[in-house]
Amino acid sequence: MAAVELRDLLHYPFLPEAQKILASRGISVAGLSKTGSGKNYLDKAADRVVFAIDGKETYPSDTSGDNISDIVTYVLARVLVSCTKDKRTIERFVKAEAKRVFGYLKQEQNQTIKARVCSEFGISLEAERVTVLQYVEMAANIREEKWRLINREVEKGYVTVSSDELEILLSEKIRSYLGSTLPLAVPGAVEREFAPWTDKLLAKTQERTLAEFGAIDESAYPPCIQALIQGAAAGVNLTHSGRFSLVSFLHVIGMNAEQIEGIFARSPDYNPDMTMYQVDHILTNEYTPPSCVTMLTHGVCVSKDATCEKVSHPLNYYREKKRYLERKRRLEENKAKKAAETAEAKAASGAEKKDEPSA
Ligand code: SF4
Repeated sequence: MAAVELRDLLHYPFLPEAQKILASRGISVAGLSKTGSGKNYLDKAADRVVFAIDGKETYPSDTSGDNISDIVTYVLARVLVSCTKDKRTIERFVKAEAKRVFGYLKQEQNQTIKARVCSEFGISLEAERVTVLQYVEMAANIREEKWRLINREVEKGYVTVSSDELEILLSEKIRSYLGSTLPLAVPGAVEREFAPWTDKLLAKTQERTLAEFGAIDESAYPPCIQALIQGAAAGVNLTHSGRFSLVSFLHVIGMNAEQIEGIFARSPDYNPDMTMYQVDHILTNEYTPPSCVTMLTHGVCVSKDATCEKVSHPLNYYREKKRYLERKRRLEENKAKKAAETAEAKAASGAEKKDEPSA
C-alpha cells in the first residue's frame, strides 16, 4: 500500500491514517472546548460547516502554519454536523466535502496517491467499465436520461464508461461514501459541550433555507401537503408519517412552531398542549421532510399532478411551482401595466382630438 504523507491527509482526511495522527497528537474530542486551542479548532470546524451551508465556495486550506488543522477541523466538523441531527446541514456538509475531495483528486499529480484514494472508494481510475452493482449505486442520483441503466452498454455484468463518465461517477461515489458515515453517534456529554457551536450551525441552516425559499406561498404547496393541511383542518387524525411530513415541510419552508400549530388549531378537536408537544418534538429531532418515494410508501403521496412528474421531493415541487407562479404573476402584471398604458395613451389622444379647433 502506498505511503500516505501528511500533505495527502490534509486533502483526504477521511483516510484511516488521518485518525491515527489525531490519536498520536493526543487530541481527543471530549473536553476540547475547555482549552484555548480546542476552542479555536471548534471555531474553525464550525466555519468549515458554514462554508458548506452557504454552498458558495470550497473551504480553503489552512495557512496559519498549523500543519494538522485541516485534519482536526474535518473530524470536528463531522462531529458538529452529527450533533445538529439536521439532515439539511449534514447533506450540505457532505456535498461540500465531496466537492473538495474531488477537486484535489482531479488535480492530483501523484498517481500512487490517486490510486490509493480511489481504492478507498472501490474504484480504479483506469477502468473502462464498472460492475452493474457499482454503476447502479454511483449513478443513482444522476437524473439525466443517458445515465439510466437501460440506456447503457452492458456486457457480462459490466457497464462500459468513458474516462469522463468515470470521473462523474467517482464524484457521486465520494459523496455517497462520505454521507454513509454520517451522522456519528455522539455521546450526550459531547453534544451538550458543543451546543454553542451546534446552535449557530442550525440557525445558519435555517437562515439559508429561508433565503432559498423566500416568502411562504400557500398556492405553491404540493398536492400531498395540501391534502394533509385539509385533513388537519378537518380534524382527521393524521398518521405519524403524515404529521411528520407536514410539520417538517412547513418548517423547512420557513414557518415557525406557532405558525405550524396555527394550522392544527383549525381542527375542531384541537388540543394545544398535545399539538405543541408533537410539533416541538418533530422540530427538535428531525428537519428534512421525506422524499416522494418515501411519501408514496407511507401512503401520503396523493392527488399527483403534472408538476409531480418532474420532481422527486415535495420541496422541489414547491420550489418549482413557486418559480412558475412568480413568473406567471410578473407576466400578468406586465400585461396589465401595458394595457393601462395603452388605455392612458388612447384617452390622452382622444382628449387631444377634442381640444383641436374645428375647421
Ligand atoms: S409526487 Fe411528491 S410532491 Fe407530488 S403529491 Fe406525491 S409526494 Fe407530494
